[in-house]
Amino acid sequence: MIYTKPHPVVVAEDALEQLIDYCRQNNYTRLQIVADVNTDRALGCKLETMFDSAGFNVQKVLLHGQEIIADAERVYQVMLALDGSQRILIAVGAGTITDITRFVSHRLGLPFISAPSAPSVDGFASIGAPVLIDGVKISLPTHAPAAIFADLNVLSDAPRAMIAAGFADILGKFTSVADFRLGHLLYNERYDAEIAQRTYAVARVCEEHAEAIGQATPASIRLLMHALVESGLIILDFGDSASASGAEHHMSHFWEMMLLRKGRPAILHGAKVGVATVMIADLYAQVRALSRAEAADRLEAATLPEKDAELAAIRSAFGAEAEAVARNHAPFLDMTPDDYDAIKRRILERWDEIQTVAAQVPPPDEIARLLAVVGGPTTAAELGLTDAEAALALDNGHYLRNRFTVRKLARVLGLRA
Ligand SMILES: [Zn+2]
Repeated sequence: MIYTKPHPVVVAEDALEQLIDYCRQNNYTRLQIVADVNTDRALGCKLETMFDSAGFNVQKVLLHGQEIIADAERVYQVMLALDGSQRILIAVGAGTITDITRFVSHRLGLPFISAPSAPSVDGFASIGAPVLIDGVKISLPTHAPAAIFADLNVLSDAPRAMIAAGFADILGKFTSVADFRLGHLLYNERYDAEIAQRTYAVARVCEEHAEAIGQATPASIRLLMHALVESGLIILDFGDSASASGAEHHMSHFWEMMLLRKGRPAILHGAKVGVATVMIADLYAQVRALSRAEAADRLEAATLPEKDAELAAIRSAFGAEAEAVARNHAPFLDMTPDDYDAIKRRILERWDEIQTVAAQVPPPDEIARLLAVVGGPTTAAELGLTDAEAALALDNGHYLRNRFTVRKLARVLGLRA
């Protein structure tokens, strides 16, 4: 796929001044700011005034409401605010505002610039826009921002929960990159060692600076923001999110769909990912605790899950979306006993390599400690989810993606979180 990476990526105290210079140099004189009430207060207002006094033709569309969802209504609202002239869109916000702007600007053939209001998610540099269509979230291919200008003071002043969410989204790379390696080792999934290394590196940087990020020092928030952007660039370079999104993200997606179905308030993406990372790190800890001989015994006892039982589980967990989930999961559902035996043999053959992969995942209590240091939730209860809902995501999240993760490995080995 041909894509353009954001350039430049500025995370600085004078990022807004640099943004104005950038627009001037590129002759971007007509601008359209997209913001919601919160991001407008934090950043949009100030930016509008700055552009105004610098002589730009600037318009702003303000999305009202506490919970902004990237759906048809919001997309329409932004399109309605445009006046048909060639305008550069500026997304003032974090995940959702950026995704709405990304989608609209791409479909109108206009570039957009990202002005993050909080370091809360790794999607800024992404080309995919997750949009809710008829109640189902679909990631549509769009484009990356032409450039990213992040005001370091605004990011440092962002609500603590949003900083913690961004940190947790990055901490989740410990398990996602381990799943990326497992999928390659055990299921021949597409893999790139350098992509894996870069993904692991962003997780390590944030781990090392957890205390400072918890205090929102500007230097550490700059590191966090660069890690979030780098994570997006890694996804762009690999062509999909496999290294940045493993079993912990599948659980997060499960909860997100469940809350939406039940009409309950949404939970920050990173907050869900962080809690799920603790639970998935526990599966890795269980794998680490097994000797080769114990693994061999468990594999001996493992039998291929019955397709009918699998379909029944999917139906009960996903309701109206069950059919689409099952279709997407067909390669696993249609696995033959021979395929299953081949995977079991492979697990044993590669047991030492599996142990090396598992050794790179911090223990679950360490993941929880790091999340708490930054002020994020560490348990499903803190997310407002019941134990049963936590178990549902652990049991069924893996059906959402056609990938071999530690969740699949745990299943073959008969492990349970
Ligand atoms: Zn994420």
